[in-house]
Amino acid sequence: MERCPNCRAVHEESEQCRRCGMDFTPLLAAEAAADTLVRYALIHLGAGDTTAAVRSLRRALTLHHDPYIDLLLRFAGERQGDGTTGTLLT
Ligand SMILES: [Zn+2]
Repeated sequence: MERCPNCRAVHEESEQCRRCGMDFTPLLAAEAAADTLVRYALIHLGAGDTTAAVRSLRRALTLHHDPYIDLLLRFAGERQGDGTTGTLLT
């Protein structure tokens, strides 16, 4: 999270917005859970289990939208779809 979703103030690694006082704890927990799911997805990809990787990445996207997750999901989807090796450099 780069900005407060309530007032758009720059987020400075605290659990509360310096401007509006919004509690970021649940949002930060969701981001941390999404990061864990992305790590699981990378492990699944490394093991060749693209189905599990896609499942983890889709769950991660429900918790936190991040272009990196979209990119990994596209990569895993390409590998899952036709059995060829996808590329991150498109
Ligand atoms: Zn705020």
